[in-house]
Formats: sequence, C-alpha cells, structure tokens
Amino acid sequence: MKQIRAIIKSSMEIIPEIYLVWLDAPEIAAAAAPGQFVMVRCGGDTVLPRPLSIHRVEGDSLSLLFSVVGRGTRWLSQQEKGESLDIFGPLGNGFRIDPASKNLLIVSGGMGIAPLVFLADIAAGEGKKVTLITGARSADCLLPISSPQGLFDGGMHPASINVVNATDDGSEGFKGPATDLIPAYLEGVDRIYACGPLEMYRTMAQMPELKNKPVQLSLEIMMGCGMGVCYGCTIKTKQGLKQVCKDGPVFDMGDVVWEEFEGL
Ligand SMILES: Cc1cc2nc3c(=O)[nH]c(=O)nc-3n(C[C@H](O)[C@H](O)[C@H](O)COP(=O)(O)OP(=O)(O)OC[C@H]3O[C@@H](n4cnc5c(N)ncnc54)[C@H](O)[C@@H]3O)c2cc1C
Repeated sequence: MKQIRAIIKSSMEIIPEIYLVWLDAPEIAAAAAPGQFVMVRCGGDTVLPRPLSIHRVEGDSLSLLFSVVGRGTRWLSQQEKGESLDIFGPLGNGFRIDPASKNLLIVSGGMGIAPLVFLADIAAGEGKKVTLITGARSADCLLPISSPQGLFDGGMHPASINVVNATDDGSEGFKGPATDLIPAYLEGVDRIYACGPLEMYRTMAQMPELKNKPVQLSLEIMMGCGMGVCYGCTIKTKQGLKQVCKDGPVFDMGDVVWEEFEGL
C-alpha cells in the first residue's frame, strides 16, 4: 500500500454528474488488481478519505469513475488537470480470476460498472470469453463503454467482450433490471462477477439459477479508514465477522449473511 500525491492528468464529465479522472500514480498503478480501491482525501470540510474503485490502469496511470453524491465527490469533480490528490492504495482484496476459468459473466448495476471494466479487460486479455451485462435506469445513464468515446482504452473495448445493455425504462437494450438477463446468459459460464446496488445482490442471492454457482460480488458500505483499523465496515459472513475494506470488498455471494447485511 502506497500513500502518494497523484497529479490529475485529465478530468472529464462523461455524462451528467459522472466523472472520469485519470491520475499519474505509478506505484499504485503497478500493484493494482481489478476490484481493488484507493482512498482519496477530499478537501472542503470532509475529514475521512473516500473509497473509490480503481477503474482502469494504463502504464503509470490509473483512473477513477465516480458519481457525485455528496461533499467529497462534489469536491473531487471540481479538481482540474494539473492539480494533485492525496490517495492511498491499492487496498482490499479484488476479484479473483481463476486461471482454469474460460467463460465469465459480469453483471453491473449503475455505478457498479466502475471496477468491472478493469476486470473485463484483464480477463479478455487472458483469453477468456467475457459477457458484460450493464444495467442502468435509462439510455442517458448508460456509460459509453462500447462507443468510440468509450471508457475502454482507445475507445472500443476488446472485440471479445460481448456488452449487453439493459435499462429500467427500455430506452436502450433489454427493458428491465440487469439481473433479469442473467439466466439467458448462463450457459457455459464458469464464473460470475457483479457490482451494483444492494437490491441487485439480494435478487441474485435468491435466484435458483445462481444457487451453488461461483459468484463474486463487490460490496459497498460506509468506510472509515479503508485499512482495517477502525472496524467501521465490519459485516457478518458465514466465516465470521469480516471487514469489507481489508477482507473484501469482494466476497463470495454465498458467504455473505444477507439477512444481516444492510449496506448503506
Ligand atoms: C470499496 C468501495 C469502492 C467504491 N467505488 C466507487 C466508485 O468507483 N465510484 C463511485 O461513484 N462510488 C464508489 N464507491 C462509493 C463512494 O465511496 C461514495 O459515493 C463516496 O464515499 C461518497 O462520498 P461523498 O463525500 O461524496 O458523500 P457523503 O457526503 O459522504 O454522503 C452523501 C451520500 O452518499 C452516500 N454514500 C456515502 N458513502 C457511500 C458509499 N461508500 N457508497 C455509496 N454511497 C455512499 C451517503 O449515504 C449519502 O446519502 C465505493 C465505495 C466502496 C466502499
């Protein structure tokens, strides 16, 4: 884990209130794995640093993709190219890509896309078949991951990634929640990954099609320190109490005691 002052290389509002920020952060970029996160010290009157997933890594740089929800992320969205940010990471245990796996299904809900692009990219680079289901409220909220201005490097994502869109209002792709598409894409899949809101996880945990399947989820919860010191993000699992920041944020779906997980 490194604590560094990272220079902002670019900051762009991709769609309203959603920002993509690239940082020069060689020490963290070199060690980062999909599903890990950094803690970002935000200015203004914020005291605690804020956790943000490592969205992409390119050489000495890493990117953050975040939505503006409160004081910290508002402040962050106002920082400009050339300014610097105090960050530390990479933190946590990210997604595990089993070398023996061949066919991955990745499911994203809303901002859950943030850590999943890195995962999809690495897995595709390892020659795995990857299907990425992305769910959003409407076409306006779908992040342009498969457009020429997309979030994947150079625009288009690796051709081997099959991106399937779902919107709640049907304005693009399938009409309905991303989870409704899961059964149709399960054939031949040997690993499933997801990041999204708690409701999405509760739905997945109840799906008979996913019973006894290897599903890894990244949990979102309020975090204090990000390093396992404050115990603020402790949750109950079938293996006992765990800290989301240190033991997670990625957990096996079957290990989480969902009845007692409150999320945010
Ligand atoms: C491991 C991890 C990785 C994350 N990665 C990303 C990411 O890549 N992109 C992204 O946009 N967000 C991500 N989040 C959520 C992000 O940390 C929060 O949105 C952020 O801390 C809010 O800070 P704020 O000061 O803007 O809001 P605050 O002023 O602190 O709170 C404003 C509102 O945001 C909600 N909020 C506070 N903390 C969180 C939280 N941890 N998660 C969700 N909502 C929260 C509060 O309930 C409140 O309603 C991640 C969270 C975790 C735990």
